[in-house]
Amino acid sequence: MSALRELSEQIVLCNLCEIAKHRTKVVPGEGAESADIMFIGEAPGWYEDQSGRPFVGPAGKFLEQLLASIDLNRERVFIANIIKCRPPSNRDPLPVEIQNCGNWLERQIEIISPRIIVTLGRYSMAKFFPGKSISKIHGTAQKQDNIIYYAMYHPAAALHQQSLRQTIEADMLKIPSLLVEVTAIPDAKPESRQLNMFEV
Ligand code: URA
Repeated sequence: MSALRELSEQIVLCNLCEIAKHRTKVVPGEGAESADIMFIGEAPGWYEDQSGRPFVGPAGKFLEQLLASIDLNRERVFIANIIKCRPPSNRDPLPVEIQNCGNWLERQIEIISPRIIVTLGRYSMAKFFPGKSISKIHGTAQKQDNIIYYAMYHPAAALHQQSLRQTIEADMLKIPSLLVEVTAIPDAKPESRQLNMFEV
């Protein structure tokens, strides 16, 4: 069994948070173990909770269109969330839930070792770009340890606010050139990795 599948099997058994009692299914995430790009959203919604799969509701349909706009599909990337269980009534994730789920996400990132991590929305952005504002940094990237972190609005934002649709589409179209740039850099060995962040 692959390391990622084994991890998913552990994730679905997690009962660390109170919300575990209310879930229908855990949503560990899905996609290619060798994905170059990992998309990280916020939390499962109703559709995801029912199916155990990330981004399968209306926001997911838009995410699929965005992926198609850069010749990608769900199978070629990895799609996950900051937390793996649906918060009741779609409330925002609590800090304790983000912290409890943090280890799972970090293990996923370690196994997949993506070249680009795309944060979708505020909660995912806050993990990798602490203290920043989505309206200021969407469509911009930072590089650390040879991974590019790229912030985007959550696809659901376009469903609630039509004016954001074009912004999100334009931000998605910048990803292929980031990928070209980051794949030109040879993999660094962990001991030679630098900790400084810089804009690309
Ligand atoms: N919104 C998210 O952030 N994640 C999903 O999986 C679905 C909707």
